[in-house]
Amino acid sequence: MTVTLADILAARRSIRGVADATPLVPSPFMSAHVGHDVLLKLENMQPIGAFKLRGALNAIAQLPEGTAGVTCCSTGNHGRGVAYGARERGLRAVVCMSGLVPQAKVDGIRALGAEVRIVGRSQDEALAESRRLAAEQGLAEISPFDDPAVIAGQGTIGLEMLEARPDIRRVLVPLSGGGLAAGIAVAAKAIDPSIEVIGISMDRGAAMHRSIRAGRPVEVQEVESLADSLGGGIGMENRLSFPLCRDLLDDTLLVTEEEIYHAMQVLYWEDRIVAEGACVVGLAATLAGKLPQARGPIATVVTGRNLDMALFTRVVTGQDVTLGDHRVRGRPYARKA
Ligand SMILES: *Cc1c(COP(=O)(O)O)cnc(C)c1O
Repeated sequence: MTVTLADILAARRSIRGVADATPLVPSPFMSAHVGHDVLLKLENMQPIGAFKLRGALNAIAQLPEGTAGVTCCSTGNHGRGVAYGARERGLRAVVCMSGLVPQAKVDGIRALGAEVRIVGRSQDEALAESRRLAAEQGLAEISPFDDPAVIAGQGTIGLEMLEARPDIRRVLVPLSGGGLAAGIAVAAKAIDPSIEVIGISMDRGAAMHRSIRAGRPVEVQEVESLADSLGGGIGMENRLSFPLCRDLLDDTLLVTEEEIYHAMQVLYWEDRIVAEGACVVGLAATLAGKLPQARGPIATVVTGRNLDMALFTRVVTGQDVTLGDHRVRGRPYARKA
């Protein structure tokens, strides 16, 4: 089993008109900083406020006629995509999440008519619950990242970016379970293998990064992060997103909470974009000087906007932020533009 460019082209036809064609806009501030165009793919503009609608819609489109309903585990945005797609097809949806998922995300899923189950403090526990429901109630389980239809759906982002700007030389992809990075890497490498695709995670609980280094899926401790959408493991029985990320990504990098905090301020004050911490990890790595000089335009994906506005306000106004046992010391942002 794998995912090919043909699967991504087919996914594009299946999701067309609902989840395609977000803008790709330059960031003048980041472009000046880097010396090449830095382009932002605005997936925060999707109907559910995040790119995960693409994969969820493509997976739901492939379910056989007569499916009783769907279930999934989620850090919030996949559940919202599944809820949206299920509602369109008139299917029952049950979304399983851990207690670490912010309330704003839980509320958004309920508002779409899905049933919500909060279980435990980790994605693994949420996954076990969705497995149990699938077996007990005959629901179709849709993995947030380890599913060929989901990966192909997320890969349509890579196609759109490279069609709009064939001169892109590097793509920085927020990395969690790796469905997004795998999909974009399949598309980019099929179009031109010399395009660099780099996955970036927060240093607190970076499951895919650690797994690639270890050569096999490993478990990580799950803690609170500004990049809450990047939390959770990759599944010890990962079949697809792990081998694809291992084989296709040029590198994976980590950023600190302090670097994420600063990059959220930059995206807000310089580009006037409201986005989750998960979106800025590529910008954070670039601003922190963790990447080698690029050979041309750089693109990154602004993956979602489903954030806790009280926390976001604290970040952009430079106040301290407490994440479990970690405190990010606040610093007001000195605007450049
Ligand atoms: C899910 C998600 C990611 C990471 O995607 P993976 O396919 O799990 O690697 C990044 N940003 C946001 C906002 C997300 O919801």
